[in-house]
Amino acid sequence: MKRVLITGVTGQDGAYLSQLLLAKGYEVYGLVRRSSAMDVMDEKLRWLGVADHIRMVDGNLTDLSSLLRVLKDVKPDEVYNLGAQSFVKSSWNQPLLTGSVTGLGAANVLEAVRLEAPGARFYQASSSEMFGLIQEPRQSEKTPFYPRSPYAAAKLYAHWMTVNYRESFGLHASSGILFNHESPLRGIEFVTRKITDGVARIKLGLQEKLALGNLDAKRDWGHARDYVKAMWLMLQQDKPDDYVVATGRTASVREFCDIAFSHVGLRADDHITTDARYLRPAEVEVLLGDPTKVRDRLGWRSETSLEALVAEMVEADLKRVARRVAS
Ligand code: GDP
Repeated sequence: MKRVLITGVTGQDGAYLSQLLLAKGYEVYGLVRRSSAMDVMDEKLRWLGVADHIRMVDGNLTDLSSLLRVLKDVKPDEVYNLGAQSFVKSSWNQPLLTGSVTGLGAANVLEAVRLEAPGARFYQASSSEMFGLIQEPRQSEKTPFYPRSPYAAAKLYAHWMTVNYRESFGLHASSGILFNHESPLRGIEFVTRKITDGVARIKLGLQEKLALGNLDAKRDWGHARDYVKAMWLMLQQDKPDDYVVATGRTASVREFCDIAFSHVGLRADDHITTDARYLRPAEVEVLLGDPTKVRDRLGWRSETSLEALVAEMVEADLKRVARRVAS
């Protein structure tokens, strides 16, 4: 039986990846850091019904000694580094913590793999945010990076460390440059979940308005359930490499709102307001990925349309909000 270690196992991608790998017969180990919110920590894993099948191991991305111990104990065949301070807006308020967890954390995992499990295959969760102030209208593996936030700068460091460990030490280390990927398990601070949760509350009569920031920002939004398959495929290749994972379609926050509100028979214009509180010191205005390489080499395709993604998220939030009201 193959063993896998996932950092960030309690997040959206960690939950979907765990579900995928358990179904494939892997023994799944999840790195979890001690925190006072332990009781709600595995909420996403419970939602997918996989929490009881994951072996949690105690450790922290910022503590190399803990990673060395975990790698030595688990001896995984595959390691997925999904752990990060991943909310772009917070990265301006906590730039050093973001650098430490999102950037140096990846370097710590790479070091631990190199020293304790050099035969393991490694996946780094790189991000389309690294393209930031875009240098080409469609971003591919060859597009120059231009990070626009402490988060993106930290991810860029982790990305290049992955490439360097591959080229310097011969590690089977791959980096997936994933464009935004969402689901009912997306954190509520991200704009998509904020919108679908808002739509549910407005539909159920709990509030009238939804305040957002820049409505003109455009993103290439896919479904996390589809994207974790690309991660796994990367580690099944003979050669490690870097891949852009995207849908190839971009839509604005405003368009996302239109789809979400119209799903419940409402008009976005009647309910959306804007608030400068949600603007960022520097904005990534538009992202649009070119998934040619991942399609041609790995046979991967985004399977969920934006409309289907939004519908799934709105339906899940309608249920969640209704349950909360009832209890
Ligand atoms: P990101 O691409 O990782 O930063 O994902 P987010 O979901 O946090 O933000 C996507 C885009 O939506 C960014 O360009 C934000 O500026 C924009 N946006 C507009 N209003 C909001 C809001 O109220 N919350 C968040 N999180 N983003 C917003």
